[in-house]
Amino acid sequence: MSAPDFGTPRTGPGPDRTPLPDGADGSSGASALAEGAPAVPAAEAARGGALEVLHRVFGYEAFRGSQQEIIDQVVGGGDALVLMPTGGGKSLCYQIPALVRPGVGVVISPLIALMQDQVDALRALGVRAGFLNSTQDLDERRLVEAEFLAGELDLLYLAPERLRVESTLRLLERGTISLFAIDEAHCVAQWGHDFRPDYLALSTLHERWPRVPRIALTATATEATHTEIASRLKLQDARHFVASFDRPNIQYRIAPKNEPRRQLLQLLRAEHPGEAGIVYCLSRASVEKTAEFLVKNGVDALPYHAGLDARVRQENQARFLREDGLVMVATIAFGMGIDKPDVRFVAHLDLPKSVEGYYQETGRAGRDGRPSTAWLAYGYQDVVQQRRMIDTSEGDAAHRRRLGEHVDAMLALCETVECRRVQLLAYFGEKSDPCGNCDTCLTPPESWDGTVPAQKLLSTVVRLKRERNQKFGVGQAVDILLGKKTAKVIQFDHDGLSVFGIGSDLPEAQWRGVARQLLSQGLLAVEGEYSTLVLTETSGDVLSGARKVTLRKEPERAARAPPRTPGSAPSR
Ligand code: ADP
Ligand code: ZN
Repeated sequence: MSAPDFGTPRTGPGPDRTPLPDGADGSSGASALAEGAPAVPAAEAARGGALEVLHRVFGYEAFRGSQQEIIDQVVGGGDALVLMPTGGGKSLCYQIPALVRPGVGVVISPLIALMQDQVDALRALGVRAGFLNSTQDLDERRLVEAEFLAGELDLLYLAPERLRVESTLRLLERGTISLFAIDEAHCVAQWGHDFRPDYLALSTLHERWPRVPRIALTATATEATHTEIASRLKLQDARHFVASFDRPNIQYRIAPKNEPRRQLLQLLRAEHPGEAGIVYCLSRASVEKTAEFLVKNGVDALPYHAGLDARVRQENQARFLREDGLVMVATIAFGMGIDKPDVRFVAHLDLPKSVEGYYQETGRAGRDGRPSTAWLAYGYQDVVQQRRMIDTSEGDAAHRRRLGEHVDAMLALCETVECRRVQLLAYFGEKSDPCGNCDTCLTPPESWDGTVPAQKLLSTVVRLKRERNQKFGVGQAVDILLGKKTAKVIQFDHDGLSVFGIGSDLPEAQWRGVARQLLSQGLLAVEGEYSTLVLTETSGDVLSGARKVTLRKEPERAARAPPRTPGSAPSR
């Protein structure tokens, strides 16, 4: 609760929650408010100050969206929780109040690798910024600490783990703090996709500095994460600012995976030749292979993953930011906080673990507002892999259930026959109409009644178990359905099963689609190292005919851009 704190130290003198005209506290520099304007009420002076700082320091004409309101709230000493999509302009929401209010704005950010760049960019604008994180040696740290204590900083960037160190807290107590900005605030939420234990320590800021306003910001938050951020950071008195999460210039497309690298290459050649983009892969090995494949095929691509030497990683990141038209092939270790406006596409070669992660990653495309593509390829193996990762993950049952729900939401997005954007925005609590700029809007997929094929596949699993006491993976089940006399079929005498050959009416690829969708819908499951098929609690309803199964009919080769004429039928 925000009860009065007895015995907890407070920072600095004076009424932290009212804006002071600049000048008396040595925090001037870029933060010079209209000097000596005693006749103007404080709030108005601050407002004028904010706009003046926007013009003079940042060189921008006007505030965007709710920036002005957010800045007013923080300058006035109030707390704020800001949900705004990537590229929305969150940084100014704390940078300007930090310049307007007396003292140093402390920014908590997990983006250690970017702190130097952020600080350099601010310094280039004449803002006195510094950072403290684990990449510095003692001397560098001492220097920043001295600047902080001398009131020679406007902004101090801090890695969250610094706040676990008592000496950092004591240092902060010896200076004057204008505000705390908690960037990437979703990292405090265990529900979310990017939880960082160090962020939990942030809940104590309010106890130590009850009068210093706090602003928490994130570009990704479902209702559940939103609520969790507010409660964990004890932001019950904060004003919440929730911007629309729609990114209308991004075209969302999700395709069945055939040959992912070829599909990707086709996409790049057909739609994004010579343009900058990010390709996300699940594993380091596939990052390496994909980057190599692209280079071999004439695409300027660089790898990025945590296994690379830090120097190489840094260099690749710098090149991606600096040069035109590079493709970064990366694990999700890459991208948070990357500010490159002209990323024209974000491609996922593996299924993301959650819709939140997917939306954040795809949000890195098209920050300049120009048309951009978010393309994802996923297949049966992705579903199997994600489910297995959950089964073998550490943590309690509740944690696994949470992971499972995240994947289910992601799968629902992949398998939907409705507008992708409607579903995405609904996930973030926003209602919208079909967008006309996603694959399902552009080439509406049909759905079909897959009840009978589902029953055939499930029966095969049942027969294997009952008649042979065996379990097999999807490959064998499909061979049995198709009536293929493979060596393995003969070896196990599976051509003697009553289900042998009952599925010859569908092609193999479609059977895999059926299996994937049953898996997605939880009507079938896999288990163990060999991903053998097993029934679920709901499989029985399908087998008994009590439950109908609706499946998505998909274009067999969906790597190409859908035709731009809405309403045309998918090619099959
Ligand atoms: P976010 O952190 O929300 O992803 P940024 O703060 O990095 O977004 O802002 C995205 C881009 O928009 C940056 O290049 C920033 O300088 C620019 N920007 C932010 N606010 C304004 C504004 N009011 N006018 C013009 N450009 C702005
Ligand atoms: Zn749509």
